[in-house]
Amino acid sequence: MTTEHTSIIAGVEQTTPDVVAATTAAAQAFSVYRATTPEQRAAFLESVATEIEADREAIIAAAAAESHLPEGRIAGEVGRTTGQLRMFADVVRVGDHLGVRIDPAQPDRAPLPRADIRQRMVPLGPVAVFGASNFPLAFSTAGGDTASALAAGCPVVVKGHPAHPRAGVLVARAVTLAVAAAGLPAGVFSFVLDEGIEVGQQLVTDPRITAVGFTGSRGGGLALVAAAAARPVPIPVYAEMSSINPVVVLPGAIASGAEDLAAAYVDSLTLGSGQFCTNPGLLFLPKGEEGDRFLAAAGRAVSAATGTQMLTSGIAEAYAAGTQRQAATEGVTVVATGQAGEGADAPAPQLVEAAAEQLDAVSDEVFGAAGVVVRYDSLEDLLPQLAELEGQLTATVQTAESDHADAARLIEVLELKVGRILFNGWPTGVEVGHAMVHGGPFPATSDGRTTSVGSLAIERFQRPVAYQDVPTAIQPAAIRDDNPWGLTRRVDGRLEA
Ligand code: NAP
Repeated sequence: MTTEHTSIIAGVEQTTPDVVAATTAAAQAFSVYRATTPEQRAAFLESVATEIEADREAIIAAAAAESHLPEGRIAGEVGRTTGQLRMFADVVRVGDHLGVRIDPAQPDRAPLPRADIRQRMVPLGPVAVFGASNFPLAFSTAGGDTASALAAGCPVVVKGHPAHPRAGVLVARAVTLAVAAAGLPAGVFSFVLDEGIEVGQQLVTDPRITAVGFTGSRGGGLALVAAAAARPVPIPVYAEMSSINPVVVLPGAIASGAEDLAAAYVDSLTLGSGQFCTNPGLLFLPKGEEGDRFLAAAGRAVSAATGTQMLTSGIAEAYAAGTQRQAATEGVTVVATGQAGEGADAPAPQLVEAAAEQLDAVSDEVFGAAGVVVRYDSLEDLLPQLAELEGQLTATVQTAESDHADAARLIEVLELKVGRILFNGWPTGVEVGHAMVHGGPFPATSDGRTTSVGSLAIERFQRPVAYQDVPTAIQPAAIRDDNPWGLTRRVDGRLEA
């Protein structure tokens, strides 16, 4: 069987992406899987990581060949993927994601007695995950969405991305081996692969699917949100879609070194052909001589930069159309164009300057190394422009100590606009950890209350249940007084470790 068209439905490899068989198996597996103890579930997640590592070389070779991304970058993604799985194993063992709260009964309370009420999180049910084109491993088959859904206790059906079918199948095989080794029902994990939107639409509208994780285009994400909302039983879609990640350069930052700052900006802009959801697509620069120096240096760096082959021809075409549209917009001037790389799909990086009045016209994501610079007079001029931007994954502030008063005011505006604010760094590169937020208001995501990277991502796939006066002998382990899993809980309003 060629891997290009292989689906793995509940452990069985086949060429038909049979969505109904996958979701039926997932629904059947749910009761056994959600009843696993924290230790069983954590050990399973760790074993997925181990199985991926066992086939590491083949996975790296397939993903690098299919995505045109360098092997070193892909090797890093393997580490990130396995690290993510192990992080969720630790989270499951600690168990704070279960959010246990206990309000003990107060039979003597006047005027009315209080019942015994205990709360914990339960998993939603089978989750559909759409693999991303730009992270063939870390945001794909066993990436953050899959790891967090499995950690929550949800079976997963992955819709593989057609841009990296072999890498997808190899990782799916690794997950399948781990499911079998753990003695879990095979329906805990399935992988469906096909070109075209039909399989994805069928998955999202399947009545057995209870939530969706997605990374990709705004159009694709919104189509899935609409399909999920139109179901007889609507379900949540956690779509991470589009962001231009504004960078604000404050004057003090340029005073400490325009050349270095501009070079670092262009490095981030052109990294991986700009194919990062956190690519710094929009930069606000002060007017005046300092800003001029920065822009000239950034222009030189872009002119010297060479494009590399993009993930797919479609993405390269979308980049070409987007950069042409930007360059042709009234009030926009091209500052610099870099060199096209070898092959048809390695377009040149582009940097343009747009008049502030044109901000709206250049605020759509152009996926790739396309930078827009807008100049500002003063903070009073800048703050309303930031407030008008759409929701973003990140905002970056380049600052020196002399700018701190202004920077503090920026935080007040930006925290309502983005999922992550960073100082004196660059947004490309997202740490996987407990404090990370990779989310943000629409259209950065379809639901800005959460994150798709980091341990908080688990909360997307569970919901709270209160148990009132349930007899002690039959209470779920997580909410029992004797606390067999050693959970941190809020008892009568107070946190108890
Ligand atoms: P995409 O076109 O949104 O596709 C992502 C996945 O969703 C694919 O599996 C696709 O299936 C599926 N899909 C798309 N539209 C659908 C629909 N209406 N119904 C059901 N399923 C649907 O994203 P892409 O292929 O990764 O890249 C295209 C563009 O997405 C890029 O040019 C870029 O603008 C954007 N993008 C953004 C990010 C980000 O993080 N912000 C990341 C990657 C891509 P098929 O491919 O099988 O049709």
